[in-house]
Amino acid sequence: MHDRDPHDPFVRVRGAREHNLRGFDVDIPRDVLAVFTGVSGSGKSSLAFGTIYAEAQRRYFESVAPYARRLIHQVGAPKVGEITGLPPAVSLQQRRAAPTSRSSVGTVTNLSNSLRMLFSRAGTYPPGAERLDSDAFSPNTAVGACPECHGLGQMHRTSEDLLVPDPSLSVRDGAIAAWPGAWQGKNLRDILDALGHDVDRPWRELPAGERKWILFTDEQPVVTVHPVRDADRIQRPYQGTYMSAHRYVMKTFSDSRSPALRAKAERFLTSAPCQACRGSRLRPEALAVTFGGRTIAELAALPLVELAGLDATSEAARVLTDDLRSRIAPVVELGLGYLSLDRPAPTLSPGELQRLRLATQLRSGLFGVVYVLDEPSAGLHPADTEALLTVLERLKTSGNSVFVVEHHLDVMRGADWLVDVGPAAGEHGGRVLHSGPVAELADVEESATARYLFGGSPAPARDVREATGWLKTGPVTRHNLRGVTAEFPLGVFTAVTGVSGSGKSTLVGEITQDSAGVGRLVSVDQKPIGRTPRSNLATYTGLFDVVRKVFAATDGARERGFGVGRFSFNVAGGRCETCQGEGFVSVELLFLPSTYAPCPDCGGARYNPGTLEVTYQGRNIAQVLDLTVESAAEFFADTPAVARSLASLLDVGLGYLRLGQPATELSGGEAQRIKLASELQRGRRGHTLYLLDEPTTGLHPADVDVLMRQLHGLVDAGHTVIVVEHDMSVVARADWVIDLGPGGGDAGGRIVAAGPPRDVARSQESRTAPYLARTLP
Ligand code: ADP
Ligand code: ADP
Ligand code: ZN
Ligand code: ZN
Repeated sequence: MHDRDPHDPFVRVRGAREHNLRGFDVDIPRDVLAVFTGVSGSGKSSLAFGTIYAEAQRRYFESVAPYARRLIHQVGAPKVGEITGLPPAVSLQQRRAAPTSRSSVGTVTNLSNSLRMLFSRAGTYPPGAERLDSDAFSPNTAVGACPECHGLGQMHRTSEDLLVPDPSLSVRDGAIAAWPGAWQGKNLRDILDALGHDVDRPWRELPAGERKWILFTDEQPVVTVHPVRDADRIQRPYQGTYMSAHRYVMKTFSDSRSPALRAKAERFLTSAPCQACRGSRLRPEALAVTFGGRTIAELAALPLVELAGLDATSEAARVLTDDLRSRIAPVVELGLGYLSLDRPAPTLSPGELQRLRLATQLRSGLFGVVYVLDEPSAGLHPADTEALLTVLERLKTSGNSVFVVEHHLDVMRGADWLVDVGPAAGEHGGRVLHSGPVAELADVEESATARYLFGGSPAPARDVREATGWLKTGPVTRHNLRGVTAEFPLGVFTAVTGVSGSGKSTLVGEITQDSAGVGRLVSVDQKPIGRTPRSNLATYTGLFDVVRKVFAATDGARERGFGVGRFSFNVAGGRCETCQGEGFVSVELLFLPSTYAPCPDCGGARYNPGTLEVTYQGRNIAQVLDLTVESAAEFFADTPAVARSLASLLDVGLGYLRLGQPATELSGGEAQRIKLASELQRGRRGHTLYLLDEPTTGLHPADVDVLMRQLHGLVDAGHTVIVVEHDMSVVARADWVIDLGPGGGDAGGRIVAAGPPRDVARSQESRTAPYLARTLP
């Protein structure tokens, strides 16, 4: 038996049944680069992440924290019979854990530590100064942070002009724009009234001292408020606490958990770099130390390619600069040399972040682990795919297994082993079609992957459409763009190309509703459709409102007196109160990241038993939320308002998603396609400009074809589509290409070529040209 043989070179998975997987067995060799392929929703991630990675993680939890066994039981082990030969696993994809605002390229890669060490040990100190500990060079420690701005680098101020944009209004008419809306704002107004201020006089007629107090006081007086009778509602007197507009804005900006509220508060703030540290976030003592004539803040602002060129000033420094250089090398190799250490992590794309983590792993010295990655080619120009393969190869030769979920054909070709899951999505997938060397996939007729990998069908020749007008943007001076003007053709399909960091997003970000001169500008990005398990596909698209009406109209609901609200999981009444309608409860494991477990009361159904008694055509509301889009389309065929939404979701290839699938479980690409579908379901009157950032992320070439039909359909209907894209099969089918570059960061930021794909493919300077030329029919 190979089963318990430690020398058995395979990871052997028996009876994989997670999500849609059909209980198959599969053997994957260790110490190879294995690529998992298949159309969206076929089950690749359920196998690579949901089964293999999850099982490795479960074993790890058990070994480090035996006490956590009960909790692990609650969280649930992956549905799999047995896995043998499984090494510990590291995942570089972190969908749920968004980076905090204090993290930066330097902290993600640990390069900041190396640089601090250099300054601590080998920096030039002012005469008489004591040597500083490396912590003293970190703005995130008490000893290093600038005391003025507490290490934020920015000072935030409010001003009367911002807080009260229209001084001709009275407080009652809303002079204080910065106040919260609705009840809370009215409450503050009533308190001012009770404090004896005239809330009916125009703001500018109030005495200066009074205006200053109202806006800026730090006092929080408490008074008894006698509310005026409002819309027949009689309210009791209550104790109200005053808070000045300044205090409210600062508090909301620094403490609120709601991104929308924080963004609103930010509108009433001016931020200026901190005078004391000039935005560097560090104490003066740390900034007095230099290396090669520059402060640590200056070095942290350099692109990594330049930082790597740092010369040693002494023998002691040489070891440290060599270390720094060798750590930077893989980051540059993965096409990220344009980043600087001080770049805040939240401004990075998920693709950039994953590649940074990947580069960092090369120095971790780990071996004997399996790395599980999700589409590391996302955001990567074809010119850099080669380097990606080299880096993956290096992880492997240091003695690890590398398991990658990928759609990029060149990455598939570079694999030692290919696991193809399919043949289609959801219940039509979930089987292993092939597990073996890449070339052998050619014989698997059922496989959609085989058709693209070996079929080599170039994009069909098509007449290039003519622009119906031009949209001029610029001159744009932002990030690495310096006075760039661009002309985007209207009424056609445009692809914006260029290596990572060349300025594509920056340029496209300048297109605004006003500049576009079209009826509507719709930007379809990859930001999550919601950050809690409360939002899902059904709530986001609005189809759930209709579904709730359908349930409220059933005889069962009428007999029980249940209205539409009863079928909501967001308000008390119909929902399960244990989990407050989330279906999940958060489980805190000591020392480990918190995780979710199904609610012990409703088992994930989200509703209380009373609500679940009501059925429509034999299904209760929880069972409806559990339907895939595809089955729901059949189930609701006779309810046009629901059927329309579902049809749009099917059109963008999302038939395999379940209606109630929490927003937190969706990938960026899925979120983007849901947004696109909600756009498609709207009446499309007037000229709309659709802006999409790498819409093919997470899509199998077969799904890309489906998406392209939709997008080209929009253009045929008279709209404009602009995509930022690396997939040459998409670029080759565009009517117009704008190529930025030639490099990333300071080596880019120019328009290198613009025109129909055929012309751009002939450009001498464009790094995109050779790849485009190869793809053109
Ligand atoms: P792929 O990675 O090939 O795109 P997935 O493994 O993500 O596919 O999904 C396979 C199937 O499992 C789909 O039908 C999907 O809706 C379903 N699925 C994915 N995640 C979950 C989940 N957390 N719970 C239930 N079903 C899921
Ligand atoms: P692309 O979309 O082509 O990958 P970007 O427009 O994102 O390129 O980036 C162009 C340049 O601008 C890069 O040097 C990048 O580091 C810089 N940049 C992008 N976003 C920010 C930001 N939020 N803060 C600072 N620099 C940025
Ligand atoms: Zn400061
Ligand atoms: Zn519950």
